[in-house]
Amino acid sequence: MDKPASAPTLFVRGLLNPAFPALIFLMFLAIALGLQYGIEKQDRSQIHTNLNNKAESMANRLEREFMVHADAISRMAKRFEAEPEMPREVWERDARNYLSDFGVYQAVEWIDRNFIVRWIEPFEGNEDAVGYNVAFSPERQASLEEAQTTGNLDISGVIDLKQGGRGIVIYAPIFKGDANNGFVAGVFQMGTLARELLTSNALESFRINIGEGGESAYELNSSTDTDPEFSHTVDIELPTIDWTLTVTPSVSWVEEQQSRWPFVTFIVMLFMGLLTSLTTLLVQLILKRNQALLKTRRELDAEISQRQAVQQDLARLETTDTLTGLANRRFFMEDLAHTLSIADRQMRQAALVMIDLDRFQTLNDSLGHQFGDELLIKVAQRLNGLSDERVMVAYSGGDEFMVCQQHVDDIDDVIHLLGQIKQCFEEPFLVQGEEHGITATMGVAVYPQSGLDADTLLRNADVALYRAKEQGRNTYQFYTEGMQEREVKRLELDKDLNHALANDEFVLYFQPQLDLNDSSINSVEALIRWQHPRRGLLPPVDFIPLAEESGRITDIGRWVVMAACRQLAKWQNGPYANLRIAVNLSGRELDDESIVEHIQEALEANGVSADRLEVELTEEIFIQNIEHNLNQLTKLHKLGVHLAIDDFGVGYSSLGYLRDFPVDLLKIDRSFITEVTRRHDDAVITRAVINLAHNLGIQVVAEGVETPEQLNFLKNHRCDLIQGYLISRPIPAAELEKALSAGLLNVDTPVGS
Ligand code: C2E
Ligand code: CA
Ligand code: CA
Repeated sequence: MDKPASAPTLFVRGLLNPAFPALIFLMFLAIALGLQYGIEKQDRSQIHTNLNNKAESMANRLEREFMVHADAISRMAKRFEAEPEMPREVWERDARNYLSDFGVYQAVEWIDRNFIVRWIEPFEGNEDAVGYNVAFSPERQASLEEAQTTGNLDISGVIDLKQGGRGIVIYAPIFKGDANNGFVAGVFQMGTLARELLTSNALESFRINIGEGGESAYELNSSTDTDPEFSHTVDIELPTIDWTLTVTPSVSWVEEQQSRWPFVTFIVMLFMGLLTSLTTLLVQLILKRNQALLKTRRELDAEISQRQAVQQDLARLETTDTLTGLANRRFFMEDLAHTLSIADRQMRQAALVMIDLDRFQTLNDSLGHQFGDELLIKVAQRLNGLSDERVMVAYSGGDEFMVCQQHVDDIDDVIHLLGQIKQCFEEPFLVQGEEHGITATMGVAVYPQSGLDADTLLRNADVALYRAKEQGRNTYQFYTEGMQEREVKRLELDKDLNHALANDEFVLYFQPQLDLNDSSINSVEALIRWQHPRRGLLPPVDFIPLAEESGRITDIGRWVVMAACRQLAKWQNGPYANLRIAVNLSGRELDDESIVEHIQEALEANGVSADRLEVELTEEIFIQNIEHNLNQLTKLHKLGVHLAIDDFGVGYSSLGYLRDFPVDLLKIDRSFITEVTRRHDDAVITRAVINLAHNLGIQVVAEGVETPEQLNFLKNHRCDLIQGYLISRPIPAAELEKALSAGLLNVDTPVGS
């Protein structure tokens, strides 16, 4: 719903309405018209006034002149009264004088008392008038008779003159009453009167009408183009006659009188209106543009803040690992660099701990990536519990985590942190409804001893981690001088390992196992060696972990099985046909689904019976990934291959699996045998293991037997087989054959060096 607009908003909207400039223009137009009308009205009234004045003055002049002329006629009549016997010539001379003095008159007459014209001056042209009776109508007669009686002037009014045209006759009686001796009369034409009496300019500019008794008696300039609006009529005060003077100005006179102000005002106002509305239009455009700009600005602002939010999200994502929610490697490294510079300034130490989850790869491969991801999340959660302002935890990728510890004053601080990390792995992790015990191996590099910059520190922590892994899992290792060299060597070896198989650089050495029951040798353990082109003969510890890490162990394992089978085939029909070969399989090798088929193929390809082959697996393989391994081992067992548990007694306390797996042989780890004659614990354990195995129908091998004392102990406790330097070191097949045929392999004469 739209909210109601506020008053100012409405005002602004009104201002911005497109009709607004037009409205302004119309307003100005109205004002212009009004002003024009007003000024014009005033103008016209001024013209009227001017015309009135003109007409009045004309009328006054007419009256005055008329009276002057009338007086002249009266004076002539008086002269007649004074000289009744005036001879005609004298009268005529007087009359001529009058005519020349008073130009209006056309003629002067003497009319006898019977109203007959007797004399007339000038005579020429007026001959017809002589003898004319001027009392041509009863009205005229009555009027003349009254003048005779009263002695007053009589004026004829405008009449048709005997001489032609229209004119007026003024009659001045000579003596009144019975003594009356007729009249002296002045005749003039109206045109002459008007022309003589009115100024010439008036004549040009006006139509002049003389009205008598309400009717037009005479009109001058009737052809003039006039403006009837401005006609003005005034009364003319004359004895006995009732005249009006109507003055009608010519169009040109009116135009002359008219001022230009109304027009100018109109135009000016119109122009102002146009200007104002154009200005308004302009202002509107500017305002609209401004509004559009403001809107764009607002939209831009919104977009900018949106982008900033996105950027913040991105920045957060860039610093965080999406799976674990921990800081990612990149961010960790940036922070580490920063931490190191602070540590440098404060003369303090800082520690970088690389954490690698033991057996993670195995779990991930066998239980699936989903499982792996969930496990990583759980581990991340626990590790993150350690983070505070001095400890930063990050996920490095794969199964590796990194921890940076600031403000390290001495090495105990780091040891304490390592203990805390170890504690995180004490409780099993609940993943996909099952508990999984996981351990971690750690490599530690301390600034500044183990590296002066973040990258070096990281590399060295990695080296230390690798060393820790070599020493067995679930432990930690600090980086020390010399590790770097080993690391370089390791990397080189890793490179060389690429070609070792193709170049056929691996060899199998064999170490015999002595049967204590009858002092016979029925089995040998195949132990791999690498005949390195530059480094010489390398023991498995130098390359097996490398191969496990890179995955090359699978191919190497297949080669070992194949080589063992070939050896068995060679011995098959000779004096050593009784020998069984035990091969070592690492956990990674057993993960390979096709390992069982491969073993079967190798046996078949060499025509070797399966019970000639034994597979040694470390104890932990039986614990991890039980279902999968049980399946593989059962298949192997069904083939007829013997199964041995290698390095028994190390690390794992649960013995339950011995019941479930089809195990033939158990190899007590060398670590128990070494001190079996000196350490009571080891003796107890060894005895217990032998008894336990025998109870389960499993034979026991003791590894690493080096002394006759150890041999005696084992013999006394009914150990089935012994293996160790006391009998023989691992030796090549040819040497083994020689020793066997020479009967050297017994407890008295150890073989190999
Ligand atoms: P392992 O399976 O426990 O092999 C026994 C190791 O103990 C051998 O070391 C052997 O030389 C050594 N040994 C035997 N008797 C004595 C003794 O009296 N005293 C002492 N101090 N040592 C003795 P080696 O050959 O260096 O092999 C080391 C490990 O490498 C083996 O331990 C095995 O886990 C692994 N390995 C060897 N060959 C292979 C192989 O073909 N495949 C795999 N996956 N691992 C192998
Ligand atoms: Ca072994
Ligand atoms: Ca062993």
